[in-house]
Amino acid sequence: MRKIDHFIGGAAYAAGERQGEVFDPNNGGVQAHVGLGNAKDLGRAVDAARAAQPAWAATNPQRRARVMFKFKELIEKNMDELATLLSSEHGKVIADAKGDVQRGLEVIEFACGIPHALKGEYTHGAGPGIDVYSLRQPLGIVAGITPFNFPAMIPMWMFGVAIACGNAFILKPSERDPSVPVRLAELMQEAGLPDGILQVVHGDKEMVDAILDEPDIKAVSFVGSSDIAQYIYSRGTANGKRVQAFGGAKNHGIVMPDADLDQVVNDLAGAAFGSAGERCMALPVVVPVGDKTAGNLREKLIPAINALRVGVSTDAEAHYGPVVTAAHRDRVENYIQMCVDEGGELVVDGRGFTLQGHEEGFFIGPSFFDHVKPHFRSYQEEIFGPVLQMVRAGSFEEAVRLPSEHQYGNGVAIFTRNGHAAREFAARVNVGMVGINVPIPVPVAYHTFGGWKRSGFGDINQHGMEGVRFYTKTKTVTQRWPDGSVTGENAFVIPTMG
Ligand code: NAD
Repeated sequence: MRKIDHFIGGAAYAAGERQGEVFDPNNGGVQAHVGLGNAKDLGRAVDAARAAQPAWAATNPQRRARVMFKFKELIEKNMDELATLLSSEHGKVIADAKGDVQRGLEVIEFACGIPHALKGEYTHGAGPGIDVYSLRQPLGIVAGITPFNFPAMIPMWMFGVAIACGNAFILKPSERDPSVPVRLAELMQEAGLPDGILQVVHGDKEMVDAILDEPDIKAVSFVGSSDIAQYIYSRGTANGKRVQAFGGAKNHGIVMPDADLDQVVNDLAGAAFGSAGERCMALPVVVPVGDKTAGNLREKLIPAINALRVGVSTDAEAHYGPVVTAAHRDRVENYIQMCVDEGGELVVDGRGFTLQGHEEGFFIGPSFFDHVKPHFRSYQEEIFGPVLQMVRAGSFEEAVRLPSEHQYGNGVAIFTRNGHAAREFAARVNVGMVGINVPIPVPVAYHTFGGWKRSGFGDINQHGMEGVRFYTKTKTVTQRWPDGSVTGENAFVIPTMG
């Protein structure tokens, strides 16, 4: 059986006795074991990072960027291999797996411009003979803890920026699909990154707690579910670290009466069911405004949902593949039953779906509910599966209120032809990322990504200039080069610039 080791100090490093199982979601069997590490393994990685980081920080930013350029080339060269490996552990279809790698790569492209992003501010002549300038310096050793659903994109969002800024980065990826993160670290090394600057440690809570308690790790970036995000934020900040922790989501798609419903159905099918709904920016709730809109939308949605093709992740014709584990499939199916029990109308039932020849695979057919109410627990919580819930709104005001009052505030979309309504909605809705006729509004790499409320703990977003701020600290230098004419005036008074 294949064994997945840590990647420490530029080489594979076997973890101790504890092992996790990595499944093949297409067939339901165990395809590999991953070593679950502990504080001792982390200590080894921290030692390697401590030895390597000062020289990396002293390497000029242009040379650091060159490693990123080379890494980008290697990713492009190895795209097929990475996507196949990712798809085999996660279950997302190959085209979607390539998208996962590509969206991460876009942050690497941003990191290629790091010399520009690290330029500080400068004021010449802030006082008599005095200049003031700022430096952005790396924090030292930083860590990232990532979820199963984007095993390439989210690690690259984090380490691309952190490493380009001059930090050493320790990645603790999801133990459910840990192979791609290790391949990324190997490719970074092939691109010329010194040993110890990007390391991968595997594990579960034991390893995460070791990271949170390690004094030499100065910042932690986390993406995962909200309860864990809150825990990471509390324990990390209590230990004096800088922490950004992104959590779960329940994104709403508002459909105004004037929307192009064919376009909406097309967008919703992909945004609700793509990647089997296992995306934090999926659209699992649709909110038509007015019963007429709801009726028309429902009529068009049913055949579109029934036409979705569920298949193995290597099936080029499949719209989506299996979910990541049997436990996750059961969780999603329990939520479907909960919504039925709460009074939702189950219009399309995806439970009990089996794929011929892959009966043990973790497949779920698409489900669609109408008449879901805001007080349902199945609406209030994140399902993270191929389930679309329709909540009918009586007015635009109600449609703004639903996502605004929901516990999660990651993304939201509005579909309309009315610019004024869209503008009002974008300004007023209490959610971090908004799409206007864009179902999955994940911002491009040079803007920043981050949800509100229980979708994000901490104040600094991911990637773009906020990413640079997260992984650096600002030093401000006030300088004077006296010409020898000492005055000594006002030496005991707080200095002012006159
Ligand atoms: P998860 O919270 O189970 O795991 C995330 C990470 O935390 C993993 O590395 C895992 O090993 C670790 N972890 C798990 N349990 C832990 C514990 N008790 N203590 C400490 N660490 C623990 O999340 P997941 O199931 O891998 O990913 C899906 C979740 O991530 C969904 O809720 C999804 O919405 C969210 N997500 C959010 C974003 C975002 O940007 N907001 C992006 C992607 C995914």
